[in-house]
Amino acid sequence: MKILWCWRCRMDVPMLEGDEAKKAYELLSEGFSNPDGGSSFKSRFKALIDYYKEITGVEESHPNVIMHHIVETYGPPCEKCGKPYRTSKASFCAGCGNKRKL
Ligand SMILES: [Zn+2]
Ligand SMILES: [Zn+2]
Repeated sequence: MKILWCWRCRMDVPMLEGDEAKKAYELLSEGFSNPDGGSSFKSRFKALIDYYKEITGVEESHPNVIMHHIVETYGPPCEKCGKPYRTSKASFCAGCGNKRKL
């Protein structure tokens, strides 16, 4: 787990990395195929939501929020301001305009 700036939430949030992210993807697909899941996201993806809470201490009610809090999605942090480049292929920092050394 790592605290990173989230471009969508516009704040620092705890994000999952490495094996934590892998596990989250597993729990997500289990949620989709859960026959007793019911119609609400909260009951269908309970395992994923519980897992995220266990790691980060934050209770999210929607799996989409959790699934965009994956460190690997955002690329490395900017050398200048420390915010993550928005994608792993970004050529400059969307936060401070720093040109990325590739
Ligand atoms: Zn976010
Ligand atoms: Zn920057």
